[in-house]
Amino acid sequence: MQKKTAIIIGAGPAGLTAAYTLLKETDIHPIVFEESEFIGGISRTAVYKNNRIDIGGHRFFSKSDTVTALWNELMPVQGAPAKDDKLLGRSKPLAEGGPDPETEEAVMLVRNRVSRIFYLRRFFDYPISLKLQTFRNMGLGRTMKAGFGYIRAALFKRKEDSLEDFYINRFGKPLYEMFFEDYTEKVWGVHPSKISPDWGAQRVKGLSLMKAMMAVLLKPFRRDQKRQETSLIEQYVYPKKGPGQFWELMAEKVTELGGEIHMNAKVVGMDISDGAVEAVRVRDEAGQVSAYKADGFFSSMPIRDLVEAIGENAPADVRAAAAGLPYRDFITVGLLLNKLKIKNGTKLKTVGNIVPDCWIYIQERDVKIGRLQIFNNWSPYMVDDLENTVWIGLEYFCTEGDAMWNTPPEEFIQFAVDELAKIDVIDKADVLDATHIRVKKAYPAYFGTYDQFDAIRGYLDSLPNLYCIGRNGQHRYNNMDHSMMTAIEAVKLFKQGSSDKSAVWNVNTEEEYHEQKS
Ligand SMILES: Cc1cc2nc3c(=O)[nH]c(=O)nc-3n(C[C@H](O)[C@H](O)[C@H](O)COP(=O)(O)OP(=O)(O)OC[C@H]3O[C@@H](n4cnc5c(N)ncnc54)[C@H](O)[C@@H]3O)c2cc1C
Repeated sequence: MQKKTAIIIGAGPAGLTAAYTLLKETDIHPIVFEESEFIGGISRTAVYKNNRIDIGGHRFFSKSDTVTALWNELMPVQGAPAKDDKLLGRSKPLAEGGPDPETEEAVMLVRNRVSRIFYLRRFFDYPISLKLQTFRNMGLGRTMKAGFGYIRAALFKRKEDSLEDFYINRFGKPLYEMFFEDYTEKVWGVHPSKISPDWGAQRVKGLSLMKAMMAVLLKPFRRDQKRQETSLIEQYVYPKKGPGQFWELMAEKVTELGGEIHMNAKVVGMDISDGAVEAVRVRDEAGQVSAYKADGFFSSMPIRDLVEAIGENAPADVRAAAAGLPYRDFITVGLLLNKLKIKNGTKLKTVGNIVPDCWIYIQERDVKIGRLQIFNNWSPYMVDDLENTVWIGLEYFCTEGDAMWNTPPEEFIQFAVDELAKIDVIDKADVLDATHIRVKKAYPAYFGTYDQFDAIRGYLDSLPNLYCIGRNGQHRYNNMDHSMMTAIEAVKLFKQGSSDKSAVWNVNTEEEYHEQKS
């Protein structure tokens, strides 16, 4: 009997996990088509002159034992200190028998998660915490205003019609204006008054001033005080050479186990026959379009593009709704520096005594930059010359085709350098080198026609052999682990021959999971 085949669209975390799981758990033959020349999707590691960029900064953290076990299977946790741990004499929890990062490649490092807000040219905790330093940083006037604003919001609750209402009800107007209004608009390009309050409920659940205040008041009575104090220094694991290293390794395993991965192969069409997917049409590097048939289809391509690829076979209302799904795009400027101008005022030790943050939220209202990654602190192996240079990523949120997106790279780099100098994070004279990367569809957005998403999902689910997996593949704010879990669930269903896709869509819907801290 001929082996069954599955076509997988996209070689990001979701697509690769689908291929790997099919190979490990079934005798179904996976064929992956990847549009770009890169493995790892938006979780790839970009390399510039031996300095590595993690686009967005990807912590490997999951509540799923299956995902954690899979990470560990391919890339075990370090069993010996990393380069910076050695230089600093810093101790880390080491896995017995784990690989030595100084001599081996496939190794997950244990890293400290430090990230803060930069506002008023000073550092604030993230999420914002009510400690003395916060009030010192804000100054008496702002603190009083924030306090009165909070009391007012607590007494007179607004009807929650927008994300703006959501924030003001929980923090009061002055704090909302200081810490949420501009940043939200930077990220989404839309004012919080135009964004659904559901976004807040999903993304920043549990975050409120009352909780923050109670945490401070109850602190002396808590037995887990140590945990409270170290809330800024949680640990996560991270591949020695950034997230892409893990996905490249998984791609190697897929090929070794007999799977196929075709790069520079874009799915441009999907043929439907008798109410099921029959084939995909794929455009190769030479521009040649060919049809490939299979038994099952796993799609991590953006839903907007998927429905467009299906074309006339999809109902008109579904096509219109899918065409209106919005995305937010992203530009990263990698900047190599002699040093930073901001100083390490914490007790945390770092190589070169740079600030200890993995990333910093830039809340300053006079610049457009959203976040700053400090790759030295993600992994010492991300930087070519760890001891003498600082390698940072300047992150800008934008929309494909807008003025920021279209600015020529050299001009954009200059603009970004000027911004960092303006807020006193760097001196221009310390810039050694720079690069510029555009990232399409980094964020699926929950406005536009998103309120008609059920109709789109209903139609796609009616195609029994099509599984929508991953982040843009589900138009959901899925992290890597969620994206992997959608793939694992989809493989299970395909293996069982089940056409009920609920288990795939149910990943990342349990409320308490949603991050307060990313
Ligand atoms: C700024 C930022 C920070 C993040 N931080 C974290 C974090 O700390 N931890 C975490 O777990 N996750 C994080 N994530 C989320 C993580 O990046 C995603 O969950 C993950 O990459 C999604 O995997 P995916 O395979 O679904 O999609 P993608 O990574 O988008 O991969 C999809 C692949 O499909 C390909 N493709 C698209 N269309 C086609 C087509 N028509 N034909 C063929 N191929 C196609 C693309 O080229 C791409 O390679 C972050 C994301 C961002 C943007």
